[in-house]
Amino acid sequence: MAGFAPRRWLLAEAESLRPAVFLDRDGTIAEEVGYLNHVSRFRMFPFAAQAILQLNHAKLPVIVITNQSGVARGYFPESLVGAVHELMTTQLAKEGAHTDALYYCPHKGDDACACRKPKPGMLERAAREHGLDLRRSFVVGDRYGDIELAHRVGARAILVRTGYGEGEIRWHSANWPVPPDFIADDLAAASEWIVRQPK
Ligand SMILES: [Mg+2]
Ligand SMILES: [Zn+2]
Repeated sequence: MAGFAPRRWLLAEAESLRPAVFLDRDGTIAEEVGYLNHVSRFRMFPFAAQAILQLNHAKLPVIVITNQSGVARGYFPESLVGAVHELMTTQLAKEGAHTDALYYCPHKGDDACACRKPKPGMLERAAREHGLDLRRSFVVGDRYGDIELAHRVGARAILVRTGYGEGEIRWHSANWPVPPDFIADDLAAASEWIVRQPK
């Protein structure tokens, strides 16, 4: 029954795509400090490592997606984004946690790139490179742009109250076209919610 083989193969391909958790960096994993233009300004939230560890244990790839327009604006060199990621990786490793990848947009708003959030370029590239199913994935962030990004790719959206989150809720929630799927106090509460969701 040679005719069955291609169908089985296609099914296996679709099933191999995994959901992932996309995390904003500033205001979500670490303090929002404006332009993080030196590693000395990086302050990871005390709960971030355990929250990410919970996602690691749930076998969900954790992918950081961050807009870093300070590069295009000339506020800091592109290498700083990597240096901050290295510092974050070291701090996470002390608690046994890890992220699986980091994507950043170095452009500014008027550069007309495809990657600056809420544009979905970083998620689409991550999906190709890591075999991810965006529609079963999650996006966690502290700005409405992170929520909009999730909606654009059909992912579930979680807004955290840390960083810009509380102000986004206070001053803008009445005008949100589509609300987040969940509002979490912080990344710890977001992770707890995510691991309880049906796969
Ligand atoms: Mg943020
Ligand atoms: Zn970009």
